[in-house]
Amino acid sequence: MRVLSVVSELHPLIKTGGLADVAGGLPPALARQGIEVHSLLPAYPPVVARIGAGEAVHRWPEFYGGPAALRRLAAEGHQLFLLDAPHLFDRPGRPYSDEAGHDFPDNWRRFAALSRAGADIARGLVTDFRPDLVHAHDWQAALTPAFIHYDNTPVPTVLTIHNLAFQGQFDAAIFPSLGLPEAAFSIHGVEYYGGVGFLKAGLKLATAITTVSPTYADEIRTPEGGMGLEGLLSDRVDVLHGIVNGIDTEAWNPATDPYLAARFSVDDLAPRAVNRRAVEERFGLVPDAGPIFTVLSRLTWQKGMDVLVATVDHLVSLGGRLAVLGSGDPLFEHELRLAAAAHPGRVGTIIGYDEEIAHLLQGGADAILIPSRFEPCGLTQLYGLRYGTVPVVARTGGLADTVIDANVAAMTAGVATGLMFAPVDVSHLRKVIRRAVNLYHQPGCWTSIRRQGMKADVSWDRSAAEYAALFRELVSAR
Ligand code: ADP
Repeated sequence: MRVLSVVSELHPLIKTGGLADVAGGLPPALARQGIEVHSLLPAYPPVVARIGAGEAVHRWPEFYGGPAALRRLAAEGHQLFLLDAPHLFDRPGRPYSDEAGHDFPDNWRRFAALSRAGADIARGLVTDFRPDLVHAHDWQAALTPAFIHYDNTPVPTVLTIHNLAFQGQFDAAIFPSLGLPEAAFSIHGVEYYGGVGFLKAGLKLATAITTVSPTYADEIRTPEGGMGLEGLLSDRVDVLHGIVNGIDTEAWNPATDPYLAARFSVDDLAPRAVNRRAVEERFGLVPDAGPIFTVLSRLTWQKGMDVLVATVDHLVSLGGRLAVLGSGDPLFEHELRLAAAAHPGRVGTIIGYDEEIAHLLQGGADAILIPSRFEPCGLTQLYGLRYGTVPVVARTGGLADTVIDANVAAMTAGVATGLMFAPVDVSHLRKVIRRAVNLYHQPGCWTSIRRQGMKADVSWDRSAAEYAALFRELVSAR
């Protein structure tokens, strides 16, 4: 089976968030399931600088405001099509924003073009690559299923939601420039509250929809989690699937990780103490017998950082220590710096984005706190599981699907991998921290949770098997 993946970022070529990790991690895992994936993404300057532009397989004299070419190449383990449209993508800045961080005003045109190119490939633009199925990701690629639908191309489409908070909503005035038939401006197509909704259109017209965890798939059908799209998603519940993301288990392997002070495995946990000592040094924590909690996160309201800030004193009073690595909202950055100043030797804060310290924290902390208000999938709990940093998480989205709470039944059965709490407020976060500290001081229990987590399958292979089953079902139903 051949699949075209249409996506606006792909790790390691270009990344702004978890979407890139999925776009980069899934194709090699699908290949192991016998599914050949080609990925279409924009020819952003850093991508071309890294891997070259490839060979032109098609040229459009005029494509959304200028000439464009479709280029093809294989690089870094991926089969790629690059949409080379200099008037849309050859500019400084990030994939969606300029150097000052402002969204590009023509993002609608840029990603309508990407989606149109995907639909063109679906209907045979490249003679020797006709996909059996098209997989589009997030609002940036969400018009692909719409174009394919209105073209009457007989290829099933899957749209994956990585975060429903980003919907690609624009003024109705752009509609005539999208290249869709007039009939598409309706409640059955792209029309959304009087404007144009890219994600809305894709959710309406894709053959099937997936999101990145089963619990998030439930939550987005409620008024609290649906962000205005709960009605549409509820109507399509029969084709809505939740598939948890995997992680790159080679880059994140405690037995080989070059960023760790000492490498370890589930059968040899002793070297972990060396990493713990390195965390203490790095974050200015005084050594003692209590647990080290870490927070490794964007510092935002979604991630529950206001609740964390209000819980720090309690965590310290219970004998815990806290190592924070993150950046984001300046208010939370400031408050977490203040918390470190108020608790010298007990709380350490590093503001910034640092891959190396992130690995060290996962390899040396005892528990990772994730008090997110919503979390489509979440990755840091998966790294925590793999590295024996016990996840202490809110019961939401992918956190609820990937961690087994250490309740009495799970402890008796020996299957617990972390601790879970709800709702996200100060009293419940305090309570779960108290539970964690108590369990930590029962070394048999803590080691059992830690080992069980390290044995959990967090690889892409498990996820890819689910995507492959869905893809096969859709192709054979056609
Ligand atoms: P989200 O995509 O919502 O930010 P995820 O848990 O899905 O949350 O993914 C976050 C990713 O970013 C993880 O790989 C995590 O290790 C990484 N990360 C977050 N903050 C930092 C930081 N300050 N330094 C290094 N890595 C970070």
